[in-house]
Amino acid sequence: MKEFSLIDTYFRDVSFQRKDVLLGIGDDCAITQIPTGQALATTTDTLVSGVHFLPDADPRAIAQKAIAVNLSDLAAMGAEPAWLSLSLSLPDVDEKWLEAFSEGFKELTEYYSIQLIGGDTVQGPLAITITAQGFVAADQALKRSGAKPGDFVYVTGSLGDAGLGLDILLNQAQVTNSEHSTYLLNRLHYPSPRVFAGTSLRRVASACIDISDGLLADIKHILHASQCGVCLQLDKLPLSPAMLESVERDTAFHYALSSGDDYELLFTVSEEQKSSVERVLASSNVPATCIGQINGAVGKVDLKFNDESYAYSKTGFEHFSHNEVSSQHNNTKRA
Ligand code: ADP
Ligand code: MG
Repeated sequence: MKEFSLIDTYFRDVSFQRKDVLLGIGDDCAITQIPTGQALATTTDTLVSGVHFLPDADPRAIAQKAIAVNLSDLAAMGAEPAWLSLSLSLPDVDEKWLEAFSEGFKELTEYYSIQLIGGDTVQGPLAITITAQGFVAADQALKRSGAKPGDFVYVTGSLGDAGLGLDILLNQAQVTNSEHSTYLLNRLHYPSPRVFAGTSLRRVASACIDISDGLLADIKHILHASQCGVCLQLDKLPLSPAMLESVERDTAFHYALSSGDDYELLFTVSEEQKSSVERVLASSNVPATCIGQINGAVGKVDLKFNDESYAYSKTGFEHFSHNEVSSQHNNTKRA
C-alpha cells in the first residue's frame, strides 16, 4: 500500500470535521481559521515504541494516549482543543494495526470535537508524533509562572494510579483484585486529559501544569517559573480506592509523588478565588483536592504528614537522567 492510499484509507476522513478547517488533509498545508479574540496554543508530544509504550501495546490505546498526552498540555494551558496533526513512523504497513489505531483516533477526535488536519507518514521505527492546537485568549492562558505565596495548591482526580498500573504490567507489583487491576491499567493506557477542567479554570487558577512526570517533578516547574516554594500535606493526597486497597500507605505516597503518566492538572488558586474552584469544576465532573500551599521558600518542597515533617527523597522520572531510581521502569519511560 502506497502512502497516499494509506492516508486515504486510515486518516483522511477518520476524524470529526470542523467548520474552522477551511482545507484539511490532502494539500500541501491545512488552512484553518482562528476565532476572533483568541490566540493559538500549540504543543507536540512523541511516543516511541519501546520507550513510551511496549511494542505489543494495543494500537487503539496507543492512538488514544498519543492524543491524550497532547490534549493534557492544552488543558494545562486552559486552551480548548481544535486541531491535530499526526506524524507516523511505521516499520511496515500492518493493516490490522492501522485499522485499530485509526479507530482509536476516531473515537477520541469525536469525543473532543477535534479534527485531524494533516501529518506525515514515513517508514521507520514505530513512533507517533502529534501536534495539537487549541484556542485561549492570550491574557487567560494558564501559565506556570503565576503562583504567589499564600496560594492554595490543588490537583484533579487521583494520583499514582498509572504508575502502579505500569508496575502491574511489568510484574513489579501484584494487585489481586481484578477490578482494581483493570482500573489501574486503564489509567495507564487510557489517561483522561482534563480538558474541560482546564478551560473552566481560566479565570480561577493563578498557575497550572499537567502532571506527566510525577507530582514532585512537575510542581518544581511551577516553583521555578513562579519563584516560590510549597508545603504539601501528604495526608490530603487524593488516592484512588484501587491504590489504597492494593499497597501500603508509604508506597501509595511514593506512586502519588513520583510516578508519571497520571495527566492530572496541578494548579494554584489565590485565597479570593478558593471558593470558586468547586463551582467551576462542577460542570467538568472532575474532583479537585487541595493538597497544600505556596510559600516564599524559593524552589523548596516541604512534605508534611498530619502536620509533621515527612522524609522523602525520590523525584519523578527524568529523561536522560542516569542516576535516577527508575529500575522498576526500565521497559517504558514517561511521555
Ligand atoms: P508532502 O509531500 O507535501 O509532505 P504528503 O504526501 O506527506 O505531502 O501528505 C499528503 C497529505 O496527506 C498532506 O495533506 C498531509 O498533511 C497528509 N498526511 C500525510 N500523512 C498523514 C497522517 N499520518 N495523518 C494525517 N494526514 C497525513
Ligand atoms: Mg510529507
